[in-house]
Amino acid sequence: MSEEARPLPWLEPRWQELVRLADAGRLPHALLFSGPHGVGKQSLADALVARTLCQHPGEIACGRCHACQMLAAGYHPDLLRVAPEEGKRQIRIDPIREVNAFVSQTAQQGGYRVIVIAPAEAMNVAASNALLKSLEEPGGRTLFVLLSDIPSHLLPTIRSRCQHWALAAPDEDACLAWLAERLGGDEEARFWLRAAGGLPQRALELAEPDARALRQQLHETFDALVRGAEPVAEAARLDRQSIDAILWYGIAWLEDLIRLGLSGNGEALRNPDLLPLYRQAVKNGRVRDWFRLLDYAREQRRLLAEGGNPNPQLVLEAWLVRWSALLRS
Ligand SMILES: [Zn+2]
Repeated sequence: MSEEARPLPWLEPRWQELVRLADAGRLPHALLFSGPHGVGKQSLADALVARTLCQHPGEIACGRCHACQMLAAGYHPDLLRVAPEEGKRQIRIDPIREVNAFVSQTAQQGGYRVIVIAPAEAMNVAASNALLKSLEEPGGRTLFVLLSDIPSHLLPTIRSRCQHWALAAPDEDACLAWLAERLGGDEEARFWLRAAGGLPQRALELAEPDARALRQQLHETFDALVRGAEPVAEAARLDRQSIDAILWYGIAWLEDLIRLGLSGNGEALRNPDLLPLYRQAVKNGRVRDWFRLLDYAREQRRLLAEGGNPNPQLVLEAWLVRWSALLRS
């Protein structure tokens, strides 16, 4: 049995709902799974796709039938996956035209035709509009699964044609054992889960060696800026790192700073190891200014995601200059 047949453990209750709907013949023809990156949407979609195509499904796909074997081998004629082209951000109209042709044909294996679109918010306006009719009247035995980190970026006409399942970060109890098994213990699991804002798969990513090294390097940068280092020189030392990852950490740390600045207590912080630095920082900046910097970081990150800002190094410099100005004020 391949691992993809079963969703991640904290999604088990949602999975049971899906199985009940499918067994009652009440599975909607279009589902939208949304939730933050790292919550496990993909695993729920994979399990549903496998079970829907399986010829002898039990609680999960059987893993043995011809359909399951084709899927495991990486190709099933009744499954179409749509994603941005390699190196591109958008899903354009051409692959959606393929979707429309695909749903107009009969399933080759006599079962369902399944279309997975991820990330669905990558569809541009033309692609979204081209999808509407298929999404509305796909014909029998067709299942659309759309995945989205940011469902608000989908056209309302797309959202309204899907049954929307919003997945939230799980309780710690529901994912700690899974995470501890992968990170070598409860303490590690708790630390990274907290740093990841409660998102278990994100926690795994943050605990990987490269990500740990970046976190450590940013910790040192932050320390240097608090001590009055020159921000442009600090930016040069971060030259080859992902600006998106740098802004992501900056946002998490600003949220901590704001929490600390507003409540004065360090207990609810996502990054308790940074508390000594935070304490120095809150002595200087005012909460209002931290909020402003937070807005700026979110906006920059959004622009980068949309491909709207061509020069990451300039973004990085501007970002550290702003941090530095606040820390010195
Ligand atoms: Zn099967």
